[in-house]
Amino acid sequence: MTRETPINELKGVGEKRAQLYKKMGISTVGDLVTHFPRRYIDYTQPVSAAEAVIGEHAVIKAMVIRKSPAARIRQGLVLYKIFAEDETGERFTITYYNNRFAANAVEVGAEYYFSGKISGNLTRKEMNSPTVLSVSEKNLLRPVYPLTEGLTLPMVVTNITEVLNSADDSFFTDMLPENIRHEYSLSTLEYAIRSIHFPKDDYAVKIARKRLAFDELLKLQLGMVMLKRRSRTANSCKMTEESANMDEFFSALPFELTGAQKRAISDIIGDMCGDSPMNRLIQGDVGSGKTAVAAAAAYFAAKNGYQTALMAPTEILASQHYNTLSEMLGPLGIEVCLITGSLTKKQRAAVSERLEAGLCSVAVGTHALISETTEFDRLGLVITDEQHRFGVNQRAALAGKGHDPHKLVMSATPIPRTLALIIYGDLDISVLNELPKGRLQVQTYAVTAKLRQRALGFVKKQLDEGRQGYIVCPMIDEGDPELAAAKNYAENLKNTVLAPYKIGILHGKMSAAEKDGVMSAFKAREIDLLVATTVVEVGVDVPNANIIVIENADRFGLSQLHQLRGRVGRGQYQSHCILIVESFTEESRQRLDVMKKTSDGFEISEYDLKFRGAGDFFGNRQHGLPDLKIADIAADRELLADCRKAAKEIIDSSPDLSEYPLLRSETEELFSRNNNAADSL
Ligand code: ADP
Ligand code: MG
Repeated sequence: MTRETPINELKGVGEKRAQLYKKMGISTVGDLVTHFPRRYIDYTQPVSAAEAVIGEHAVIKAMVIRKSPAARIRQGLVLYKIFAEDETGERFTITYYNNRFAANAVEVGAEYYFSGKISGNLTRKEMNSPTVLSVSEKNLLRPVYPLTEGLTLPMVVTNITEVLNSADDSFFTDMLPENIRHEYSLSTLEYAIRSIHFPKDDYAVKIARKRLAFDELLKLQLGMVMLKRRSRTANSCKMTEESANMDEFFSALPFELTGAQKRAISDIIGDMCGDSPMNRLIQGDVGSGKTAVAAAAAYFAAKNGYQTALMAPTEILASQHYNTLSEMLGPLGIEVCLITGSLTKKQRAAVSERLEAGLCSVAVGTHALISETTEFDRLGLVITDEQHRFGVNQRAALAGKGHDPHKLVMSATPIPRTLALIIYGDLDISVLNELPKGRLQVQTYAVTAKLRQRALGFVKKQLDEGRQGYIVCPMIDEGDPELAAAKNYAENLKNTVLAPYKIGILHGKMSAAEKDGVMSAFKAREIDLLVATTVVEVGVDVPNANIIVIENADRFGLSQLHQLRGRVGRGQYQSHCILIVESFTEESRQRLDVMKKTSDGFEISEYDLKFRGAGDFFGNRQHGLPDLKIADIAADRELLADCRKAAKEIIDSSPDLSEYPLLRSETEELFSRNNNAADSL
């Protein structure tokens, strides 16, 4: 048996079960042994029937004393009852429905561990469809696997057992170089695979997990490095520093750039003058001034005779960027144009003509900008203002397109450096971790719902003074209720001091055009107060808005709260953020205190990761990484540091991994597995 052996060659796996496995992405024996347990049932500490809590899961060691005959309850439903007695002499009932196999598997007079959910009442407890383990079993931590309808735990356990029993040395050929394994104190692959399924004890699980997570993270790192190398072609849009006088640009700005902005700009210029095309990420905190950095890059490109395309995720952001860039670059003689879906054919043709003739140097627009027929004369730089993250594969695809222009990606979501290095491992990174001087800190308060009316009174005070505000109202999971939530909330505001104001609604079920419409109206001050459900368009700059109220604040991740708070504090007015929670818990108080204490997005993201783990940290947002089966990029951060070192050692000794063919092919497999997910973004 090899890892490539098809799954249907295993005993008991016919067409039907193979199909079920396939549904879970398992088609070979190798896939099966990397289908890792989600958790383990611990049979080492059985309880007595008396101790077992109704409604909860329990393991009871007991002897079967009687089995009643199968009873047909109704058409298609057969009940099997088994009576058991634990070591204290207490009896309980075991029931199976339609599972003759399970009922026959236990014998009267023999002892077993029974594991299942307890029901019944205090005088007679019951266990429904328990998993059974013989008392002679030595491995008392039993795996629980992710399953799918029709595929049961015993089936998977049996199939994996068969594989592990017949697997020999060649089955466990290790992709990891021996020296790396020793250096980082990792177990053999064989030990890891055997122990992750049927561990001797907790310690064995830990050792096995470490080894398997290491493999996965190492492949991730290696894949990123390889992607990065692949994009390192010759620089076909090579620029020179002499061509542009950056001081001319700097002195035309209405403000002094921050140190971080200057560093980012010089990174960018260095890249564009370098030997290979730029592939750089600007990671900026909210309000850190990414747009000015983009403008500087476009200026530098224009002075070198190259055009720039700046892509924004929505029309409103596109027109916002267009205005900013026109103001910054127009006076310096650099023409900027805007391309969106709402241009008329005639307008569009006129713009295209100037672009094609190279008269216009900077084109700002939505994605249509590069995907459609827009022709450039000499496109040298593509900037994406990224609202959601692109997948790594997608970035690679983009990098392979066109005449190989320089790429600059701007991200408004601060994430811890360790994570950024993985998620954006194929890019170089500049960080804007410094806010412009003299920015007023947003005052942040956390209150319970009891103070809601007072909070609204405070909002009124701001609106009275001519300001605008946002209310982020309770999130409801899916479907129409979201609309209802916003509408109801806005409706209820009519019974409050805010009744006289113009109130707008924004929610996730609106089309992009509808959202744009509402945001434009808000920007134009046709709306005083915007009630939004989940999404307030990230990146929208309305300096006159100085207050945001966030309901159910403890439901959001801190990074999300930080993003939301970033909608205010963008102008000259003192801004405020009121976080409302139903009641405080120890944890919510601690988290919200972080929000009160700091406005540094990077610091906040570190807390977030600590409090919530990676899954919640990213929320529903696609982080674009290949699916990881066992490693957790948040929890395994220390391991990750080791992997980075190991990856470097490996790459240094064999840059294209040709010396490690197995490692190479497994790395490629990890990245191709996710192709579809990333492409469908
Ligand atoms: P973000 O990084 O969130 O996209 P923006 O580029 O929209 O931030 O900039 C936020 C605001 O700060 C804008 O109004 C911009 O004009 C202003 N700004 C940017 N850089 C500076 C600076 N160095 N000094 C003062 N204000 C700045
Ligand atoms: Mg921005």
